Amino acid sequence: MKIHEYQAKQILSRYNIPVQKGEVASSPEEARELAKNIGGMVVVKAQVHAGGRGKAGGVKLAKTPDEAEEKAQAILGMNIKGSTVRRVLVTQAADIAKEFYLGVIIDRGAKGITLMGSSEGGVEIEEVAKTNPEKIIRVTADPFLGLGDFQARELAFGMGIAKDKINGFVTIAKELYRAFVENDADILEINPLILNDKGDWQALDAKMVYDDNALYRHREAEDMRDLGEEDQAEIEARKAGLSYVKLDGNIGCVVNGAGLAMATMDTLLLYGGEPANFLDIGGGAKADKVAAAIRIILSEPNVKAILFNIFGGITRGDDVAKGIIAGLEQIKTDVPIVIRLVGTNSEEGRKILEEANLKSAETLAEAAQKVVNVAKERS
Ligand code: GDP
Ligand code: MN
Repeated sequence: MKIHEYQAKQILSRYNIPVQKGEVASSPEEARELAKNIGGMVVVKAQVHAGGRGKAGGVKLAKTPDEAEEKAQAILGMNIKGSTVRRVLVTQAADIAKEFYLGVIIDRGAKGITLMGSSEGGVEIEEVAKTNPEKIIRVTADPFLGLGDFQARELAFGMGIAKDKINGFVTIAKELYRAFVENDADILEINPLILNDKGDWQALDAKMVYDDNALYRHREAEDMRDLGEEDQAEIEARKAGLSYVKLDGNIGCVVNGAGLAMATMDTLLLYGGEPANFLDIGGGAKADKVAAAIRIILSEPNVKAILFNIFGGITRGDDVAKGIIAGLEQIKTDVPIVIRLVGTNSEEGRKILEEANLKSAETLAEAAQKVVNVAKERS
């Protein structure tokens, strides 16, 4: 789950990482009031989940409250990479002496949590990685001992940080690591992390993504969810208790079990098809869940066919078949559906499906080929 800059900064300040004073406004008048209270030069910043707001014109300096109102007027309602700006952060402006990058990620390659630092802050780090990969310094924390002071110093040396600024940097790097671990983040980055004209460290921007699988440990984080920024289908899937990930293909998949869902996508690809999604409806196939799954899949207009791959374990195949039929009654569609049903009472289940004129199959290979063919005919 992504959160906004102002929310990530609230978390950073709990870890004593210096951020500028600021508050969010949802109207130009409010922005003006905030600017007046802050006093002096402010920055008005679009709060959307997309990065690169600066380049898109979503970050503007303002010298006076009047100007802050004007800039907020221009930024509110702006569309940045598909997100509409509904709120702006109005914050004290900093005088930048030097911009750095500092980020923490789950590093699958290194099998650990890696801190990345660069002297090339401000620009997108992906760009630096492409053009100047040697400018990105990495250290991987020990899973048991955490991030050592020596590792934070190694980062600082590699980033060319002046001697008298290293202790301050080490504190920030260690606290950022602690914030990452304690909040179960997937990504936590400061870009730019600056030295201001007075020589003090400040986090000018912050980006944080929570690990969805750990959200149950961070109930307070739910309040930071911005539904306006999330995909409609994914919101509905979460409500229905389905795990759903949208993909680019045209064959919708409804599967019970994550492992089976992966195998289903592989088999579709093997026979020349392209899955439109990953979808795990969990154990069994209750009518309401089936209906929700189909509704979500069909919200993607390019879906040409749907494949059900259901394994009846504890749930019986005939119950599954009845669930599918009841679900299909809730959602009328002419998109062809192929159902592979196997396991407990699968024969009874398939008979029920055939009586309802639904295409069924016994093996995954057979089902995959059928659905790939139908999808091709309709494309
Ligand atoms: P992003 O483009 O979405 O990453 O938004 P940022 O918050 O990183 O802002 C983009 C750029 O605007 C930064 O790299 C800075 O160069 C500039 N900027 C942001 N805040 C300030 C500020 O307080 N003072 C100054 N002078 N520039 C700022
Ligand atoms: Mn940034």
